[in-house]
Amino acid sequence: MSRPLPAFAGHPLDRADHIRGDPERLAELAHPGARVLRLEGLIPRLSEGKRLQWGRLGDVAEGVDMVFLGLLDGEPLFAAVPNGGDPDPAYTRRETWAVLGHLTLDELAIYGGARSLLDWHARHRFCANCGSLTVPAKGGWQRDCASCGAQHFPRTDPVTIMLVEHKGNLLLGRKAGFPEGSYSALAGFVEPGETIEEGVAREVFEEAGLRVRDVGYITSQPWPFPSQLMIACHAFADDDKLTIDKTELEDARWFTREEVREAIESGPESTSFRAPFEIAVAHHMLRWWLEKDDE
Ligand SMILES: [Zn+2]
Repeated sequence: MSRPLPAFAGHPLDRADHIRGDPERLAELAHPGARVLRLEGLIPRLSEGKRLQWGRLGDVAEGVDMVFLGLLDGEPLFAAVPNGGDPDPAYTRRETWAVLGHLTLDELAIYGGARSLLDWHARHRFCANCGSLTVPAKGGWQRDCASCGAQHFPRTDPVTIMLVEHKGNLLLGRKAGFPEGSYSALAGFVEPGETIEEGVAREVFEEAGLRVRDVGYITSQPWPFPSQLMIACHAFADDDKLTIDKTELEDARWFTREEVREAIESGPESTSFRAPFEIAVAHHMLRWWLEKDDE
């Protein structure tokens, strides 16, 4: 069975770490004609053909911090750090989704990686150790503090997201802010000192009161709002009695295979529940589960 490739995965760039650490080579590549991702804040601008729009480095204002995204077919790509990051969960921003819906998988991956990196720069300008202003280093994949010598690196926050199965049924939940009728996989951040499997088990117990076993890995997805790594897992529950944590979930319940199939195949017209959008890894997890059970 093939593993699903969700949005923001499949990054097509050569990340060229050897160039990041070579200031002379980096300066050669950063010529005025080099391509720069065009953004408004953190939202991509689209060309007339609804593709990502690229400007030229020579047109970027003096003093703006630049990051080196990598090489695309040998050509360097850059992006400019915006004045402010995005402290709000971007999935509430319709204008972001309206644009992303046009992009190819390659473009989503380039944009997603750039977005996480740029947002980190915009919101981590000061040293967490001493409070001094830090400066970008290594082509934008690091920030250095000249005052105390600390080095800071872009964040990636691991999140487990899991399908819990019991006697052929699947546990899905909804948070208070979800669109009407929407259900998705339970999810939560991995905590310090915890394996992925332990994170899955803790999260399911906290949110739904279930003990799970045989936690397995399905796939992963970089999620750039702002910088999570979604680790998709599957686990079995020994019983189906739910104790829902209402501070985390508005509802959680078991769905039959037929209900899940109806939700995936009928999209917004579904009569069972509304499945997550295709851009989310949870959508691909449900498809994986339906295929798995078909074997
Ligand atoms: Zn410092």
